[in-house]
Amino acid sequence: MSQIAVYPGSFDPLTKGHLDIVQRACRLFDHVIVAVSNNAAKKATFSVAERIQMVEASIRDLPNADVDTFAGLLVDYLKAKKSRLLIRGLRAVSDMEYEFQLADMNRRLYREVETVFLMPDEQYTYLSSSVVKEVCQRGASVDAFVPPPVARMMRRRFGSKR
Ligand code: ADP
Repeated sequence: MSQIAVYPGSFDPLTKGHLDIVQRACRLFDHVIVAVSNNAAKKATFSVAERIQMVEASIRDLPNADVDTFAGLLVDYLKAKKSRLLIRGLRAVSDMEYEFQLADMNRRLYREVETVFLMPDEQYTYLSSSVVKEVCQRGASVDAFVPPPVARMMRRRFGSKR
């Protein structure tokens, strides 16, 4: 049976840290779905369509990755995709509390699910979508932090000339 792994998140927007996790997952599993969450309760900067477009353009060279979106319970999405593998990224100890809560809840909701935590390259340890957005809004270049298609979209959105 081929192993399908789902990497869910807001990806608002996708950073090089997220991409590093996708690349690692692609080396471990047959197929990786980057699942952009469509959560009405969470106010996002970029629309779901924009976030999908940025992910799609950034994973073009990864033949076993693709992008999708989901709403509602993640475990229902996993079941629909016939996947039991959930990928999450762990940066620092500060991520653990929240990530463990989530993994525990998902396991209670779906006994067979396994959350696999992957650690990014250390240069991405302190990278987050929110910090990158803040820096871009203040006029700095984000080329070092996000893939080129994301940097272009951010420049368009935030009007930076750099
Ligand atoms: P969510 O709102 O679901 O936490 P995010 O887009 O913020 O969505 O993050 C998705 C996943 O990617 C989470 O597991 C998060 O810890 C991880 N992640 C975020 N930034 C990085 C990074 N720089 N390096 C590795 N993993 C990351």
